[in-house]
Parts: sequence; structure tokens; C-alpha cells
Amino acid sequence: MMVGFLRIILYALLAYIVYKSIRFYQKLSQKSHAPPKSKQTSGLMVKDSICNTYLPQEDAIKEIVEGKKYYFCSKECRQKFLESKN
Ligand SMILES: [Zn+2]
Repeated sequence: MMVGFLRIILYALLAYIVYKSIRFYQKLSQKSHAPPKSKQTSGLMVKDSICNTYLPQEDAIKEIVEGKKYYFCSKECRQKFLESKN
């Protein structure tokens, strides 16, 4: 009785492992076919108004001044902006 129960668990576990590894290899093969992506980005570009460059939102330094969002490419640009505000 107990052995039969354990066997079911064992089979379930085995099925789970097989399922997981199939999924893993499917993901792996999908990745190799997909174009290489170095980083996950939303594709949204924001402007650094200090040096007038556009950069991905993910890489930008965010600053909220008077309820408005500003983006900067570097801490230096952010500093310049804050100094100009004061
Ligand atoms: Zn900048």
C-alpha cells in the first residue's frame, strides 16, 4: 500500500523532471534561433536635455523635479541639471 503510493509520487516526480527538461531544451533552442539580445529593453528612448543625447530609459538616471520626470545619461548631467534649477 505504502510502496504503491511512493511509486506514484516517484513517477509523478519523474514526469515532472522530464517535462521541465523538455521545456528547458525548448527554451534553449528557441534562444539559439532568436536574434541575439544583449539586454532586455522596452525600446523606449529618453532625452538627456543637458547634453542632448537619446538613451534607453533603462540606462537613464531618473530625476523627478516638481512632479516632472527628467532623464540623464550620467550623474554629471543630472548634477548640472540640478545646479541649473537652483
Ligand atoms: Zn548627458
